[in-house]
Amino acid sequence: MPTCSICGVLRERLVESIIEESRVSVCEDCAKFGKIISRPGVFKSSIPVKVNEEVIEYIEEGYHDRIKRARERKGMTQEDLAKSLAEKSSTIMNIESGRLKPTLKLAKKLEVFLNIEIISKDITITGGNKKIDFKKDNLTIGDLLRMKNDN
Ligand SMILES: [Zn+2]
Repeated sequence: MPTCSICGVLRERLVESIIEESRVSVCEDCAKFGKIISRPGVFKSSIPVKVNEEVIEYIEEGYHDRIKRARERKGMTQEDLAKSLAEKSSTIMNIESGRLKPTLKLAKKLEVFLNIEIISKDITITGGNKKIDFKKDNLTIGDLLRMKNDN
């Protein structure tokens, strides 16, 4: 019996799928990650599975220290920074003291203006009964294929 190029499961039939520009034979579960180019008739009645990619952006811990230090490096007061970003100085004060988390929109402005990083990204791909976490883009389907080939 052929085995899936990604998860290694034994299957009666595999589907041809394009994953990261390479053509691979995979099981139906793994085919969800790629573009299926041929599908044996036996699977025709199966319900297509939707893959959802969810990107969650969040403000990192310690954001307030980073903002405060970067502002001080620039020799700016909280008021100066507030004016530059068209925000209230009380907003900047509360953010720097850690009492207030900036909105993502404001956090992005702060990142650019102060040349710091305070936003992290989590990408989660879900589909069927499979759930893979791609933390900060470190793991791709290509990596999974390579890992499998190394074994
Ligand atoms: Zn598979």
